Amino acid sequence: MKNFGYGFVLTFCFTVVAAAFLFSTAAQAADGKAKNVILMIGDGMGFNSDLAGTYYRYGEAKKKRCDSFPVYLGCTTFSRAKKDQPIPADCKGYDPDVFWASIANGNQGTEFTKTTDSAASSTAFNSGTKTLNGSIGVDADQKPVELFSEVAVKHGKKIGTVTTVPLSHATPAGFFAHCKSRSDMDEIFLQQTDANKGLTIVMGGGHPFYVGGNKIKVKENEKEKDTKKRFLAVGGEETWNKLQTGSYNGYTVITDEKQFADLAAGKGNIPDKVIGIGKDTADIPPKDGYLEDLPETETKLNASFKDRNWNELPTLAEMSLAAINVLTKNNDKGFVMLIEGGAIDHANHGQNAARSCFEHTGFTKAIDAVIDWIEKNSSWDETLVVITADHATGQIWGPDSFTDENENGVYDEGDGTSTFNPLKNNGRGKIPDVQYAGKGHSNALVPLWAKGPGSELFLKQIKGNDEKAAEFWNFSGDFVDNTDIAVVIKAALAP
Ligand SMILES: [Zn+2]
Repeated sequence: MKNFGYGFVLTFCFTVVAAAFLFSTAAQAADGKAKNVILMIGDGMGFNSDLAGTYYRYGEAKKKRCDSFPVYLGCTTFSRAKKDQPIPADCKGYDPDVFWASIANGNQGTEFTKTTDSAASSTAFNSGTKTLNGSIGVDADQKPVELFSEVAVKHGKKIGTVTTVPLSHATPAGFFAHCKSRSDMDEIFLQQTDANKGLTIVMGGGHPFYVGGNKIKVKENEKEKDTKKRFLAVGGEETWNKLQTGSYNGYTVITDEKQFADLAAGKGNIPDKVIGIGKDTADIPPKDGYLEDLPETETKLNASFKDRNWNELPTLAEMSLAAINVLTKNNDKGFVMLIEGGAIDHANHGQNAARSCFEHTGFTKAIDAVIDWIEKNSSWDETLVVITADHATGQIWGPDSFTDENENGVYDEGDGTSTFNPLKNNGRGKIPDVQYAGKGHSNALVPLWAKGPGSELFLKQIKGNDEKAAEFWNFSGDFVDNTDIAVVIKAALAP
């Protein structure tokens, strides 16, 4: 060493450090590690539900901003059928040959799998483990499974959920909670808002005293079980009484639309943690479900949601931005969040194509808000966005796909022969012509879009190809499974 002067040693060290630094920067980019992850779920938004909403908002297919994302695939959603029978690796929970053989097979399961509900699907895409319907963050033996939100917390990131349905509903619940039943919403809410381990953001509907932004009159002699139900989503009556003071377990509690709007605009003090409860006992209707330049669609929207007090209701886009402003406050480690357009599912259960399109528009406006935020305040090098559905609902096809002999709105025994007709596009601002062949969930593929660091990992997870789906929805036909979402996000998360 003495033959080389200090100058050389310093230069040598500097070169090594600089090289290591350059190498690590290059390696990080090549690894595709994500600082932030935003998972967006259209509940019950199968391919045709998405297409109907896209026709309504844009007048043609593939016009949504996520339609130009580099990853656009199908995704299977089936859940585990039985506690004592794991799904074998070679079991086809979704088989294109079976699915496309008849509309009657839309919710066909196997010996080991069945059509999922939101709880099992949310557990699958948050943890990577298939479980039984109704289960939140636990496997078929009711053991807690590791969620990607928990990996994010280990990496020092902040986490949160935003939804248009009650904030402790199955899809947001599966992002964070561990609970044997989705029905235990009070328990789920208490986990979400735990003083030490809770989420940074919990937002959604579930206000005990409002419907559609209007205060409701509670019967004086309300039955005990109805009172219990009223407070279930917000942790029970006792918890609600604490929430009403405006602060709870270190959270700031907001319920007024003005508070959501100010937070979304970054006005005033940004609190450290927020519980946001929109003014509806159930779903917050989409006041932005209309098209700005076609006022008649706003009229139609208003008619379909009679007597709503829109001034008292936040939009999903607004709640999403409000959440991001809190999650990014004094935080250089990043955040991971779930945003759910939760009521597309409810519209499709009700076979209400108009409401489904309005809900879809509210959801896609939230997608726009997220993309705008990334392009203005973050970048596609550090933020991963994954957009998909937890399952399809309502078996939506084009008109005259089957003759509904018994007029029950479901393709079943006694109905005439079936064909898979495409939706009839009626142009922008018009609801496309569709025929619903079911009222429940289906086992169909759902769409999946991804962009940002780690998104390319989905292409290594392909489980199969569906030629017919490729034709119908204009993609490669390649599909992944919903458990791959957790696999990809866990791998993509930057420490
Ligand atoms: Zn449903």
